[in-house]
Amino acid sequence: MKPKDYRSELAPDWCPGCGNYGIVAALSRALAELGLPPDRVVLVSGIGCSAKTVHYLRAYGLHTLHGRGLPVAQGIKLARPELTVVALAGDGDGMGIGAGHFVGAGRRNVDLTYLLFNNQVYGMTKGQASPTLGFGDRPKGLARPNPQGPVNPLWLAFASGYTFIARGFAFDIRGLAGLIAQAVRHPGLAFIDVLQPCPTYNDLYTREWFAGRVYDLAENGYDPEAGDVAGFAEKAAEWGERIPTGVFWRSRRPVLEEALNPMDSGKTPLERAEALLAGHCLVR
Ligand code: SF4
Repeated sequence: MKPKDYRSELAPDWCPGCGNYGIVAALSRALAELGLPPDRVVLVSGIGCSAKTVHYLRAYGLHTLHGRGLPVAQGIKLARPELTVVALAGDGDGMGIGAGHFVGAGRRNVDLTYLLFNNQVYGMTKGQASPTLGFGDRPKGLARPNPQGPVNPLWLAFASGYTFIARGFAFDIRGLAGLIAQAVRHPGLAFIDVLQPCPTYNDLYTREWFAGRVYDLAENGYDPEAGDVAGFAEKAAEWGERIPTGVFWRSRRPVLEEALNPMDSGKTPLERAEALLAGHCLVR
């Protein structure tokens, strides 16, 4: 497979210079490296600029509801475990309205990959503050400095039970592709917080601002499998002159599919889904 094998016939209508272009390039590259045919890949998005990604790559795609991409992605993976499922969300979509689903997914540990397109604003609706914008920050879409503090997506992922936690930079296409490939190979729920500049509405955290600050955790000998919770927390909080990227945490525990499938062996996808429902509903 080559990255061009995932190119859709639709041309992106994102703004010039948007970090989303880098993420699409990295995702195509990762899928090609993994040798995954487009008809074995499902992309699931919510609402926002990031959500259009499912139209701009040649694979199966569902453009769902605001904040709801993750539960749909988990349902697909449980019904069709042989498919590679990648969920995509913006920071408003994933850390705002979808925050409850983000936490619930961590508890289940379904084997899929979740990419957060993190630009700290609601780009599609003209640059309001998203849940990841820092306290006191005032990008050009805001009338006043942000009066609320930010959610740290890496910390929230850890607290929720994600078994693979990473951060990438949208314009480090090679590095991000490598992280996505690792995330897809990881047997469990893998989360990547992608620093994705929005040049139209976020004039604080630009491509140039990030480019001079990001560094690779691996260069300093950081071990994501050391089980060092304090070390993880410290690196996940580092922000400013230096911003770490790479794999922050990697661990193993049973995925939900393993917990369900022994009793479901031999069943069709629909029967598996019904069995899952039966296990969670008192009245059918
Ligand atoms: Fe990208 Fe921002 Fe334009 Fe949306 S508004 S397409 S995030 S640059």
